Amino acid sequence: MIAVFVHYHELALKGRNRGYFERRLLHHLQTALRHLNIAQAEALPGRILIVFAGHPQRELIQERIQHTFGVANFAFVQDIPVDYTSPDLTPLCKAIEHEVRSLSFETFRITTKRADKRFPLPSIEVNRVVGAYICQQTGKRVSLTDPDMNIVIEIVNRHAYFSLNRLPGPGGLPTGTSGRVACLLSGGIDSPVAAYRMMKRGCRVVFVHFHGRPYLTRASEEKVRDLVEHLTRYQLTSRLYLIPFGETQRQIVLGSPASLRIVLYRRMMMRIAETLATRERCWALVTGESLGQVASQTPENLRVIDEVPHIPVLRPLIGMDKQEIVSEAQRIGSFEISIEPDQDCCTLFVPPHPNTKCQRNEIQAVEQRLNISLLLQECVEKAEVVEYSL
Ligand code: ATP
Ligand code: MG
Repeated sequence: MIAVFVHYHELALKGRNRGYFERRLLHHLQTALRHLNIAQAEALPGRILIVFAGHPQRELIQERIQHTFGVANFAFVQDIPVDYTSPDLTPLCKAIEHEVRSLSFETFRITTKRADKRFPLPSIEVNRVVGAYICQQTGKRVSLTDPDMNIVIEIVNRHAYFSLNRLPGPGGLPTGTSGRVACLLSGGIDSPVAAYRMMKRGCRVVFVHFHGRPYLTRASEEKVRDLVEHLTRYQLTSRLYLIPFGETQRQIVLGSPASLRIVLYRRMMMRIAETLATRERCWALVTGESLGQVASQTPENLRVIDEVPHIPVLRPLIGMDKQEIVSEAQRIGSFEISIEPDQDCCTLFVPPHPNTKCQRNEIQAVEQRLNISLLLQECVEKAEVVEYSL
C-alpha cells in the first residue's frame, strides 16, 4: 500500500472558510487521482491522507498532486499503529531503520509532530528515542541544523506516519474557492500565464478565444486548444469558447480609421467575453495585458477599453516585464506552445503604429455607426464550445 500526506498552508486557509477549503481540496485530489485506485481519502486534523490500494506509480501520483493548487507540500508516508495508553516506539524505530538502511546519507534529524495531543509522549521525547535508535543501528550522526535527511513523524488518530522526503506542491488556493472567471486567451505568451495565475488563486477559468476565420488560418485556434489542454491539468475540466471574429473585424474596418482599430477590436472582445462570462456565472474577466507592452496597453487605451465591461477586468500581469512573463511561461510549460507561429486576429487590418492615445469620443463616434448589439449577438450565437477533461 502507498500512502500520501498532503499539507496545505494553514495561514491561507484560516478562519471560517477552513472546512470549506479542506473539502474542496480533498474533493479535487480525489478527482485528480481517481484513476489510481484510491482506497481511502480523508481529512485528518491539519492534513489530508490518501491511501492507494495496490501499487500505482509514484511518479503519476506525484505529477497529479504537483498540479493541485492549495497543496503546500506532500510526502509518501508509512504508517505504524500506536497505542496511546502504553506507547511503545520500538515498532516505529524498526520500521524507520528498515527504510533508511539502504539509503546513502551521513547525517539526519527526526522531526516529530504530535497533531493528536492524546498521545502521551511529547514530541521531543519521540525525537530523542527514535534518534538514538537510528544512531545506534546505523552509525549515522544527528544534525539538527543541516541534516542530509529529515525524517518526519506525524502522530494522528492512533497512528505514527513517517516520511523521509517532503516534496513541494504548487501552493495557491484550491480550485473553485475563488469562484469562476473568464480569460481572454490568445495564442500568445501572456494570456496563458494570466490564466495560470488566477487558477493558482483558486479561480476556475473559462476560456474565450477570438479567431479570424474565414480571413485567417486556423493556426491560433489550434494553439489555443493545446494551451487549454495543457492548463486543464490544474483544474481537471475546462470549457473553451471559440468565437468567429473575422466578420466583426471586417465591419469595424469598413467604418473606422486604421489607427483606432485595435482598441475597437478590444472593446468588442470585452462585450462578447462579458456576455459569455455572465452566462457562465463568472465574476470577472482576465487578460494577459501588461502596462505599456504594446499600443493597446498604454494607460490611455486601457482606460478606454475598461469602460466597456460591467464586471471587473483582472490583469494579473499588469506590472510584469516581458522577460518575467516569459520565464513563468517556461516554468509552467506553456511557452513552447505559445511560440509556435500563428496569425492572431488582432493583427488583421491593423497598421504598424496604432494610436496609443485613443480618445473616448472618437471611439464612441465610430461605434455609433456600427450595429454593436447585432455584431455581439452574432458572435455569441456562432460561438463553438469545446469541453476538456483530464
Ligand atoms: P498575449 O501574449 O496574451 O497574446 P500580447 O502581449 O500579444 O498578449 P495583445 O495581443 O495585445 O498582447 O493581447 C492582449 C490581451 O488581449 C491578451 O493577453 C488576451 O488576454 C487578449 N487577447 C488578444 N487577442 C486575443 C484573441 N485572439 N482571443 C482572445 N483574447 C485575446
Ligand atoms: Mg497577442
